[in-house]
Amino acid sequence: MTEAQSPEAFARLWSRAQAVLPGGVNSPVRSFRSVGGDPFFVARGEGAWLEDTRGRRYVDYIMSWGPLILGHASEVINEAVRAQLSRGTSYGAPTEAEVELAERLVRLVPGIEMVRLVNSGTEATMSALRVARGYTGRNRFLKFTGCYHGHADPFLVAAGSGVATLGLPNSPGVPDAAVRDTALLPFNDLDAVRDLFQREGDQFAAIFLEPVMGNAGLISPQPGFLEGLQEIARDHGALLVFDEVMTGFRVGRGGAQERFGIVPDLTTLGKVIGGGLPVGAFGGRRDIMEQVAPVGPVYQAGTLSGNPLATAAGNAQLAWLEAHDPYPALETYARRLVDGLLGILDGAGIPASGGVEGSMFGVFFHPGPVHSYEDAAAADLARFNRFHREMLERGVFLAPSAFEAGFLSVRHGEEELAHTLEAAQGAAEAVANGEA
Ligand SMILES: *Cc1c(COP(=O)(O)O)cnc(C)c1O
Repeated sequence: MTEAQSPEAFARLWSRAQAVLPGGVNSPVRSFRSVGGDPFFVARGEGAWLEDTRGRRYVDYIMSWGPLILGHASEVINEAVRAQLSRGTSYGAPTEAEVELAERLVRLVPGIEMVRLVNSGTEATMSALRVARGYTGRNRFLKFTGCYHGHADPFLVAAGSGVATLGLPNSPGVPDAAVRDTALLPFNDLDAVRDLFQREGDQFAAIFLEPVMGNAGLISPQPGFLEGLQEIARDHGALLVFDEVMTGFRVGRGGAQERFGIVPDLTTLGKVIGGGLPVGAFGGRRDIMEQVAPVGPVYQAGTLSGNPLATAAGNAQLAWLEAHDPYPALETYARRLVDGLLGILDGAGIPASGGVEGSMFGVFFHPGPVHSYEDAAAADLARFNRFHREMLERGVFLAPSAFEAGFLSVRHGEEELAHTLEAAQGAAEAVANGEA
């Protein structure tokens, strides 16, 4: 147990952070700006729990935003990293572990015949788009409102909780020209895709999507949506690209493409495949991946790509997942959790809806159904924000945004479920009473 920080010491640390890091954080989703309330600094993680520098403990439903499916400080990962550490941290020359990780991805992910390892999901998606453009000789691509594909320029249009403004970049610093070839449509609206491709389909390099949306809350594809996209892409010579950075090894071992039985032309991965260290990957059909340098002309490179520590962690995590198949148990927990939460919210007179895909879950403060970002945007954000603060006070860490999915680990068990639902009972009553 770490020594608990005094309120004064915490205030000093928080002000030091804000003085040297924009918003005190290194990624905006870590900020508590949208929900309000006190942020915290992590002292340690253990299994399903986080402990902050003030000695408070939380059941963690973020799990580093997905990667930690074995929980915090997993011995499986630690052992693999320690073993590699004594042999060096980076070589800039090939290792067997990279081949092993690539073989594993080829074996487990239906759409991957060949793969390139990178350092983050953002690198994976920007590289996959370049390959799709290089392969087809076309520039335009379709993305869906609310899907997040990392922070590279062409994707920063209606990305996740960003404002959905057709065709305009959501961030200063992204030139209009960088998103001119980005087309935008609502998720689950197959007719809109058909219309667009009927008129201009021959200009499109790719249809790019999160097959299960996880960056606008959790939104599942409607029956027929993924099939329809595959057919439209094929008919018009565009590539179907599944961004499975979040859903890969999360909604099931072979990702959403295995769960829904739709094999895309290209796949991007990240998060779980690095076991908590920085790894991303893009892969797909052999004839497409042979466009990538040095075999083909599409350039892509990285000093730390296939990093030995990261591939050790990734290999260890994926080997464990392959051997144990924890997904049915994870999904059972997720369903009990969401059913429990929805029952409690309903009992408190708070309209809500929710869903589960493997080890991911989502609850909207919206009566549902939620099939798109446009639906999700109508959720009661003020209520969610109050609920978030009340849960945090009761030792449960939900993502500090109404537009995020929740993530489980194999270390979430009966104790954590009971603790969470008890906290939710108190939190829902506090939210309802606060409004009375
Ligand atoms: C997290 C995420 C990314 C970006 O990955 P980083 O490692 O944060 O760069 C891209 N696509 C999806 C679907 C993601 O969830």
